Amino acid sequence: VVTADGQLIQHDAVGMQRPISNRPIQHRYNIIPLPDSHNFYQIFIRVESFHSVQLPLAFWTQADFVAHDEFNNLAVGMLAGALCIMLLYNFFLYTTIREPIYLAYVGAVASFLVLQFGLKGFGYRYLWHDYGSWSSVVVFLSGFSAIFFATTFAAMFLQLKERGYRYYSIVSFFRWFSLVGLVATPWLPPQWVLLLLAALAMLIISLGFNAVFTYIRTGDRPIYIFTVAWTVFLIGVLLILFNKFGVIPVNIWTEQTISFGTVFEMVLFSMALGDRINSEKEHTLQAKQKLLGALNKEREAKQRILRSEEMERNAKEITLKIQTENNEKLEKEVAIRTQKLNSAKEQLQTLVRIDPLTQLLNRHYFNEQIPEEFRRCARERTHLTLMMVDIDHFKSINDKYGHLVGDQCLTKVAAVLDEMGEQGVGSAYRYGGEEFSLLFPGMSLFHANKMAESIRVQMAEHITGIANGPNAITVSIGVVSVVPAVGLRPEVLIGHADAALYEAKRLGRNRVVVSEFDGSEQRAAH
Ligand code: GH3
Ligand code: MG
Ligand code: MG
Repeated sequence: VVTADGQLIQHDAVGMQRPISNRPIQHRYNIIPLPDSHNFYQIFIRVESFHSVQLPLAFWTQADFVAHDEFNNLAVGMLAGALCIMLLYNFFLYTTIREPIYLAYVGAVASFLVLQFGLKGFGYRYLWHDYGSWSSVVVFLSGFSAIFFATTFAAMFLQLKERGYRYYSIVSFFRWFSLVGLVATPWLPPQWVLLLLAALAMLIISLGFNAVFTYIRTGDRPIYIFTVAWTVFLIGVLLILFNKFGVIPVNIWTEQTISFGTVFEMVLFSMALGDRINSEKEHTLQAKQKLLGALNKEREAKQRILRSEEMERNAKEITLKIQTENNEKLEKEVAIRTQKLNSAKEQLQTLVRIDPLTQLLNRHYFNEQIPEEFRRCARERTHLTLMMVDIDHFKSINDKYGHLVGDQCLTKVAAVLDEMGEQGVGSAYRYGGEEFSLLFPGMSLFHANKMAESIRVQMAEHITGIANGPNAITVSIGVVSVVPAVGLRPEVLIGHADAALYEAKRLGRNRVVVSEFDGSEQRAAH
């Protein structure tokens, strides 16, 4: 500050290259109190910088400045506080959710916070006041780091890799290049770094827009929110760049707009993030439910198959059981029926053998028995005796007393013959009509004669007690007795017995005639 007459009345040296303690007022701004004088004086400012510099000048009264500064600090503090909250909030979310995208977000917010801190001079004011050159370094570092994290966040958010974004390799390259820039910052001339940073930011932002408009058609709500935030982000970065390159003036409004934009954009990003995590969770949940549904269906199908198999097995078992039971039943029934059939057969056989009126064995059975007795006696070389018994004048009994009485008489005669047959260890048969026959195996002619005589006598004695019947019945008997020789036929024996009976009738009835036939054909011929 120089008076009109050229006298130097005040000299101050300020700037970020000097320790803050050099400043007449220790403030983040370069504030130079001017002399309180009514005289004219001149102010000379010499500016020296090894990179870009902004020198927005303003004259304030102390009262105006204090009022402005208070408002400015309040706004900056509020915005910084908001960013801090976003940072902490999302960091805590990360510690629970463990989604790396939250770390990228937190990194981006932290970088922007530090960037703002450096740009606005708070770092210099409160942290590195004795190392002025740190301000630009911190700004550059946080700038690269902001690009790195913002790119990482955007790539993760928009799922550029998973969706096969065309420029993904370029995005990826810039992302890693920002880390290279970060490391190289201290070694490069600051003006180069600034250009690099600006170019990188512009490229990344344009690629971000390209990606957003590529995927906005998917209709995802998180992408819409992201688009709005990214637009605000672009505007903010453009404002900072235009501001730093002197296109738009540095004043309280541009400064606050940038700060507010940063916070607004960060809040939007956080919202989009929450929304995306939610929708992803929903998707996962839906997928899980689908999977669960599919698994359930599969299980049900398996159970159905198992059930049907079991049912089939049961049905088979039941069928088998029924079959076995049926078989058993059938076997039992068959056994019972066979038994019944056998007894019926036996009954039938007996019936077939028996004469219904006299209950004696019948002619049919006689015809069966005589060859057998023949063979037996031939084998045992013993006599077989045959008797033919005929009731005398039976026709007249019928005529006189009726057929019913005749039947009764037949029954009585049969009873006598049956008893006599048993006595002689033989059997009596009804030969037909009022004719009977008796077979005595093993009975000699002598005994046969005696037996026939006994029958004839018994007959007269036993035929009693018939109401309106004859007092007596007589019979004639023809007897033959032979030891059957080989080749002798039963018919021949019957013929001889018949002949003997005929002889008895001829001789006057009620008598026994014994055939002289002894079994030899020669004798029979005589
Ligand atoms: P003979 O002394 O010569 O034997 O005389 P007969 O009358 O006994 O002989 P004939 O052969 O002439 O008669 C037999 C009779 O026996 C004829 C028939 O009516 C009778 N007769 C045959 N079978 C039965 C029967 O089952 N019941 C009754 N009531 N009569 C019978
Ligand atoms: Mg007769
Ligand atoms: Mg007769």
